[in-house]
Amino acid sequence: MCLFCKIVEKEIPSNIVAENENFLAFHDINPKAPVHILAIPKQHFESFNDVTPEVMAGMTSFIQQIVKDINIEKSGYRVITNIGENGGQEVKHLHFHILGGAKLKWGHFSDSDPKGMF
Ligand code: AMP
Repeated sequence: MCLFCKIVEKEIPSNIVAENENFLAFHDINPKAPVHILAIPKQHFESFNDVTPEVMAGMTSFIQQIVKDINIEKSGYRVITNIGENGGQEVKHLHFHILGGAKLKWGHFSDSDPKGMF
C-alpha cells in the first residue's frame, strides 16, 4: 500500500483539513508556504495521467470548498500537481498541492532553454 493510501486508511497519522467519502486533505509535512495542503482522492491513482474526469469533477469542488473554508479564496493561491520524473513527483498517489497564505514566487522551472523544445 502506498504512503497516501496508508494516510487514507489512518494507518499513518496526518493533520486532516477536510474529508468526505471520496477525498481527503491534510497539511503537507514539509510546508513550502504558510498554507500548504495536499488534497487527494481516496482511490489510488498514480498521477494525473490516470485520473478520470468524474473524479476530477469531485476534486475541483473539494478544493474550491477548502479554499473558501480557510479563507484564501479571495487572497489567491496556487494548485499544483507534479507528474512523473520531470514533474518532480515523489509520492506516486495523485495529490494536489494547495499553496497560499502569502505572495507566491514564480521562478524559472528548469535550467534548460525554455525556447528549446517547440
Ligand atoms: P510531490 O513531490 O509532488 O510528490 O509531493 C509530495 C509531498 O508529500 C511533499 O510536499 C512532501 O512534503 C509531502 N509528504 C510526504 N510525506 C508526507 C506525510 N506523511 N504527511 C504529509 N505530507 C507528506
